[in-house]
Parts: sequence; C-alpha cells; structure tokens
Amino acid sequence: MSMASKTPVGFIGLGNMGNPMAKNLMKHGYPLIIYDVFPDACKEFQDAGEQVVSCPADVAEKADRIITMLPTSINAIEAYSGANGILKKVKKGSLLIDSSTIDPAVSKELAKEVEKMGAVFMDAPVSGGVGAARSRNLTFMVGGVEDEFAAAQELLGCMGSNVVYCGAVGTGQAAKICNNMLLAISMIGTAEAMNLGIRLGLDPKLLAKILNMSSGRCWSSDTYNPVPGVMDGVPSANNYQGGFGATLMAKDLGLAQDSATNTKSPILLGSLAHQIYRMMCAKGYSKKDFSSVFQFLREEETF
Ligand code: NAD
Repeated sequence: MSMASKTPVGFIGLGNMGNPMAKNLMKHGYPLIIYDVFPDACKEFQDAGEQVVSCPADVAEKADRIITMLPTSINAIEAYSGANGILKKVKKGSLLIDSSTIDPAVSKELAKEVEKMGAVFMDAPVSGGVGAARSRNLTFMVGGVEDEFAAAQELLGCMGSNVVYCGAVGTGQAAKICNNMLLAISMIGTAEAMNLGIRLGLDPKLLAKILNMSSGRCWSSDTYNPVPGVMDGVPSANNYQGGFGATLMAKDLGLAQDSATNTKSPILLGSLAHQIYRMMCAKGYSKKDFSSVFQFLREEETF
C-alpha cells in the first residue's frame, strides 16, 4: 500500500503507552484521528497535524480502524459503550482493536456489542513497556476471529515486533494477565535480592552483573533493573517516573486474582504480589513505576 492510499486510523488513549504507539503508526504513514479525555495528551499530535476530535463516537465516524489504549475495564466500557462511545457511530465492517489490559470477560462483552453493530472487535493487549513501545518492540497478544487477524496484524506490526494470535476473543487478555502476574512476582523477587545484597555490602551494579550472568537473571534484573544507578533509561534512573504505574500493576494482579478464583487455580505468590502492590498504592506509590517496589522495601524498616 502506498503512503498516500492509507486511510486514517483512530487512536483513543494517548498516555504512557498510547503516545509512542500512535507515533509509530504516524511513522508508517497512517493519518490519525485522535481522542483522549485529557486534552493535553492530544496536543503533540495536533501540533504534528493529526486530527483531534471531541469524543470516541467522532473517532468512529471518521475512521473504520480504531485502536484503544486505556487504563482499565471501566475506561474501555466508557470509550465503547458510553453516551458518546465508539458504538454510537461505528461503521459496519470497522475493525476495533483494544490494546488495554482489561478483564477478559469485559473483552467478550464488548465483542458481542460490537458484533451486533456489524463490526469486528479484537483484544490485543501488549507486553514490553514504554521503551518497547518507543522502539516498536512490543509483543501483541491477539484474541478474536482468526480470519480478521491479518487485518489487525497490518496495524499492530507497525507498533510491535511480535504479533501473536492466541485464539478466540479474550485469550489475548488471558495471556497478558499470566505474563504480568509473573512479571510482578519477578520484580518483587529482584527488588528483594538486590536490597539484601546491598545490605550485605555488595555494590548494586556488580550484583546486577552477577545475577544477569547467573540463574537468577530475568527481565526485571537485566532490562528494567529496579535499583537507581544500575541502568540508564529505565524508570529507576528517573525517580520511578513514567513507565508502568504501580496502580496498573495492582489492577492486573486483581484481574489475575479474579481469573484464578473463576478457574479454581492456585496463585499463592500472585495473591501475595497483589497485596504488596495494593499496599504500595495506599502508601503513596500509586503514580510511580511498579519497579519502585525496591524503594518501598528499602523504606519498610519495620519488616
Ligand atoms: P496511562 O494512564 O499512561 O494512559 C492512559 C490514557 O488513557 C490517559 O492519557 C488517559 O487520559 C486516557 N483515558 C482514560 N480514560 C479514557 C477514556 N474513557 N477515553 C479516552 N481516553 C481515556 O496508561 P498506560 O501506561 O498508557 O497503559 C494503558 C494500558 O496499557 C493499561 O491497560 C496498562 O495496563 C497497559 N500496559 C501498560 C504498560 C506500561 O508499561 N505502561 C505496558 C503494557 C501494558
């Protein structure tokens, strides 16, 4: 497809993740129709000549392919089914891709409503964080009708290096919830190990280097180390600003908890991780990146 022939893509939710994802679509020559409840989030795109509209319904009127990147299930329901939601003006045959991490049951409900309007819904949550969103290295986990996967892949491939079909609608969310539960557990484990090593007199950079050449190595230790001064370009190097908020991690662990209850699956460490992130949010860490669990542990002198 030549650049000139590309039709506009709607993008709703231009936060930490949506912003760099939308910019990668722009780089691939897609004109954008933009909406965010927080008008400042749209400014950069307006300045770059993209079209900003005043509600999700107006996005649906102007674009027949829409990506949503919103914090929670409630926000996704509002953007789709609210008074000025996408469903109010969605065109038949439109492709609606939700990349937010939400409850798989909500994805299935939204898919039913979208289908009634003659359009297609796919859940396509992402893994990879803000750095991967900037460098087009996200992994998309896609659930929905398999025949529509190629159409979704055309857009998702502009924003990520891995686009994986998982099965029926909701299965993308299922994969994402399992990944994030493991991530939360490994981040807490990395923070505990680093904190213990520092208190035993080890230099944090040296300890991280040893972990990363040993069996304790994981994404939290080698790509997103939670200890300030160990790595550049990660939230721990910037007072835990940006990145993936502790509130969002607590939300994802809540989704894992609900899913575990529904499927009678034991998630002992997942449940503990949920309580730790909830406690962090209550103690003022809600807006910090989730790797601030290291700082939280350092400050909990009472343990
Ligand atoms: P964010 O809070 O930074 O951004 C969300 C944006 O959505 C904000 O700009 C907000 O104003 C907007 N918004 C909220 N409700 C809206 C509505 N009803 N209509 C339009 N706009 C609305 O969140 P984020 O970090 O970009 O995360 C988005 C999703 O991606 C979440 O579900 C999160 O769990 C998931 N995720 C985040 C990361 C990460 O590293 N940040 C990584 C993987 C997945």
